[in-house]
Amino acid sequence: MDFKLTKEQELIQKAARDYATNVISPLAKQIDEEDKIPQEVWNGLAELGFMGIPFEEELGGGGAGYECYVLAQEQIARASSGVATALSVHTTGLDAIATFGTKEQKEKYIPKGCGGEGKSSFAFTEPGTGSDPKQLTTIATRAGDYYVINGVKRFITNAGYEGPMVIFCKDSDTGGCSAYILDKFSEGYSLSKPWEKIGGHGSPIFDVYLKDVKVPAGNLLGEPGKGFAILLLGIAMGKVGTSTIALGGMLAAYEEALKYAKEKLHRGSPIAKFQAIQLKVAHIAAKYQSTRWMCYRLGTLATDIKDAAQFQAEAALLKGYASDTAVEVAKLAMDVHASYGLTTDYPVERIYRDAIIAPQIEGVSDMQRIIFAASVLN
Ligand SMILES: Cc1cc2nc3c(=O)[nH]c(=O)nc-3n(C[C@H](O)[C@H](O)[C@H](O)COP(=O)(O)OP(=O)(O)OC[C@H]3O[C@@H](n4cnc5c(N)ncnc54)[C@H](O)[C@@H]3O)c2cc1C
Repeated sequence: MDFKLTKEQELIQKAARDYATNVISPLAKQIDEEDKIPQEVWNGLAELGFMGIPFEEELGGGGAGYECYVLAQEQIARASSGVATALSVHTTGLDAIATFGTKEQKEKYIPKGCGGEGKSSFAFTEPGTGSDPKQLTTIATRAGDYYVINGVKRFITNAGYEGPMVIFCKDSDTGGCSAYILDKFSEGYSLSKPWEKIGGHGSPIFDVYLKDVKVPAGNLLGEPGKGFAILLLGIAMGKVGTSTIALGGMLAAYEEALKYAKEKLHRGSPIAKFQAIQLKVAHIAAKYQSTRWMCYRLGTLATDIKDAAQFQAEAALLKGYASDTAVEVAKLAMDVHASYGLTTDYPVERIYRDAIIAPQIEGVSDMQRIIFAASVLN
């Protein structure tokens, strides 16, 4: 057992930390207030290779696996949860194409995605369902060389950017769930206003209206009616990102709690002298460290998945744990700041608002525990 990072891993982690500290952090408040990632941030992420870390080098990716992806995501999320979320969903969409796509599909979409040309989406949720494919109502009907898609997708990340959307629909031929690659902003594609949400700003979510949107037959991903396996693996890969975003939030909370404990004075000396503050800092550190090693391990498993069902169970276990723990950690950091933590003068209020997103997305925390328990009890 070796807990040391390789030279390559250290370099990627450092590059992400430097970029996050020097470029993203100074813009984090603006990103939060405007709910928008400046183009210069996207350009930098693409130039540094952060839009394609785990994908094959031949397809324009970094060829560095998910273990490097989690290292970078942690640092980016430490600076801005919104930026890391957009990047996570982008990676999830591309990963589904990289894993299940034909040679032509991969060559068409992966190099552009890794280069920052467009951002990918992964669209399952509908007004009537967040997790049950049997309830999908968006329908794809074969018409000659095309599928014609009609329906509504809800809460879709990156829907406002050009690029591919891996979309799950009811297939009118088989009645099952199929996956397709839809080019966003094709004729018949339109969006709601972004939903106003409590945190994760910079990564807005939209309802997507699809009215007779034509998708070429060659853009079917995998086999007709076999989309559920793509969905399950895709969501599990998404949980690698979501868990690491929670981890980055914990790191930010830890650093802010330490800073405040040392700078806030009580009768002339820092509040760090109080045992109550020391206990909170130690709790935060333990929760951060335990989540950190679980995230790094899941990243390593994601690079080379031997058993999809086991991986999905492990991803669920971590996602439920990491997202709930990030909320506890953000609350502890808030407690160190007391009333000042509630003000926008300190980043901890944003860290708290961002933390409470993860337990409610990609399947709520209880669902994660149910998925894991089923894998060991059945
Ligand atoms: C910021 C954000 C980004 C998102 N991005 C995307 C995206 O890019 N693509 C996408 O497709 N979706 C996206 N979503 C949607 C999100 O993944 C779903 O909303 C989420 O999975 C929860 O689904 P739901 O809200 O329909 O909850 P439901 O599934 O309706 O669950 C509601 C409650 O019922 C309980 N419950 C439901 N089913 C069961 C069951 N079988 N057993 C026990 N309890 C159950 C749950 O525990 C939960 O407490 C996003 C959402 C947000 C907020």
